[in-house]
Amino acid sequence: MTHGIDGKVVIITGASSGIGEASAKLLARKGAKVVLGARRADNLKRIAAEIEKDGGQAAYRQLDVTRAVDNEAIVKLALDTFGRVDVVFLNAGLMPSSPLSALKTDEWRAMIDVNINGVLNGVAAVLPTFLERKSGHVIATSSVAGLKAYPNGAIYGGTKWFVRDFMEVLRMESALEGTNIRATTIYPAAINSELLDTITDEAAAKAMRGLYQTYGISADRIADVVAFAIDQPEDTVINEFTVGPANQPW
Ligand code: NDP
Repeated sequence: MTHGIDGKVVIITGASSGIGEASAKLLARKGAKVVLGARRADNLKRIAAEIEKDGGQAAYRQLDVTRAVDNEAIVKLALDTFGRVDVVFLNAGLMPSSPLSALKTDEWRAMIDVNINGVLNGVAAVLPTFLERKSGHVIATSSVAGLKAYPNGAIYGGTKWFVRDFMEVLRMESALEGTNIRATTIYPAAINSELLDTITDEAAAKAMRGLYQTYGISADRIADVVAFAIDQPEDTVINEFTVGPANQPW
């Protein structure tokens, strides 16, 4: 893997909206070959068509990150279509916020499955090719909720703290083992996307919508830092980015 974005093959999970969609479009404009995964295949089809219309290259596949076989299949798609994988952006996530007292235990488990097991499945699927080539870059979307605790976010925050720990150890072990796998974790604050649609607790949804109206910024701001991280020379890794609105007092 060399310096730059042009020509790199980038798998993106959670590419059907928000941060994943914005990143896919920006990276493709900069010459990356993007491989898009999410459950809503119709969205992926539309986004891939928009990228191709804009002169870019894209492949897509329906992907449920909680299923190991789907993660393996999207890596195979990238290898079959573009010949290799340079970067995987593990970005799929859910945030059905609620107070613990609401006991929305199904939602707790769904977050653990997507936000934690989805990341584990994504890394397990791509590591064989990265280890074989002694090269690769894993980027994951944590959250400011992975750095600080917030009411209504005990489980969501816990999943994002996990991502922080996991990515730090991946980076350290890669250095110790000399496998040259770079690890970058992104900690966005309030980003305007479809994420709040997963909140079923009415009071939590109302509070969060108010917060985002005041502090929400574009998913394009996260795409910019994803591109910056990928653009670094091979001897350099950007480990962590915290990205939020300039008016954020929390
Ligand atoms: P969106 O809801 O717009 O995007 C979430 C993406 O995750 C969608 O593409 C969705 O696709 C995908 N996804 C959800 N479940 C699965 C699954 N089981 N398998 C595959 N894909 C799945 O929100 P964002 O763009 O904001 O979220 C992207 C990431 O950013 C998440 O990890 C989120 O936690 C994180 N984040 C967001 C912040 C924000 O303020 N928006 C702040 C901090 C972090 P589909 O439904 O088609 O499967």
